[in-house]
Amino acid sequence: MTVDVLISEVGLRDGLQSISPIMRTPDKQAWIAAQHAAGCREMEVGSFVPASLLPQLADTAEVVRYAVGLEGLCVAALAPNLRGLQDAAANGAHKVTLPFSMSETHSLKNLNKTHAQVLAEIRDCVGYLGELPEHRRPQFEVSLSTAFGCTLEGPVPEYRVLNLSEQAVELGVDEVSLSDTTGYGNPRQLKRLVHGIRGNCGAEKLRGVHLHNTRGQGLANALMAVELGITTLDASLGGIGGCPFAPGASGNIVTEDLVFMLESMGLSTGIDLAALIEVRELVRASLPDVELFGFTPDAGLPIGYRAA
Ligand code: ZN
Repeated sequence: MTVDVLISEVGLRDGLQSISPIMRTPDKQAWIAAQHAAGCREMEVGSFVPASLLPQLADTAEVVRYAVGLEGLCVAALAPNLRGLQDAAANGAHKVTLPFSMSETHSLKNLNKTHAQVLAEIRDCVGYLGELPEHRRPQFEVSLSTAFGCTLEGPVPEYRVLNLSEQAVELGVDEVSLSDTTGYGNPRQLKRLVHGIRGNCGAEKLRGVHLHNTRGQGLANALMAVELGITTLDASLGGIGGCPFAPGASGNIVTEDLVFMLESMGLSTGIDLAALIEVRELVRASLPDVELFGFTPDAGLPIGYRAA
């Protein structure tokens, strides 16, 4: 089935890494299976980082091996370096995303790498992937994190995002995605960045955005992205993860609200919204102390709601 907009569920990675309780592996598998059954066709299910750094995601390899058994599901994982990419590929991930922080201060703090060192890592990753047989080669995406601003540096100059994304594309990555890691972004800023990156790299190299709702701009930014022809939007079920600095704010944009907006606008996502809302109960049962966000699940579907 083709969809107008592909929603990439990132709750199992971005959501779970931001909370302290650790979800059990069978519960993660049940979540993935239920959301797949609701029609979700892409899920980022973990991150290949040392378990000492993110114990919440220590079972990523096992979770990836489970998820790739589900028909028609694109299984994505994060990898901060070549080692993580190799692990992701060995376990059968279909898509691997390497975070590239546009703020060098953030990059040094998170990955302990300068921009030049991240670009060298990207070059090594592309070289490694080039030697894999095609059927075992995951799609390789570089996520331009903190592209809209950084909690350490403040504003991030747009020319820097354009310059670094162009360098990543020249090294041979399949695509770059724009990531509002900090929830600083606004719709016009997103429009300028999308136009700028496409102008430099070609429209086919920028198809996805990763948005947070820290300041309530998530759906406004998502709408701008869709109007610009972006076709992959990251979102997390129940917006889990939240933001430690903004009580009441969800983490990523809430998958349920995003599905509602898109389907009511006549854009198909392939996701059955009622079934998606039921998936929350699995997550709630597994993580009883974690707050789930979302307006649509609380208000219910409007009378006469029709999917696209
Ligand atoms: Zn994020």
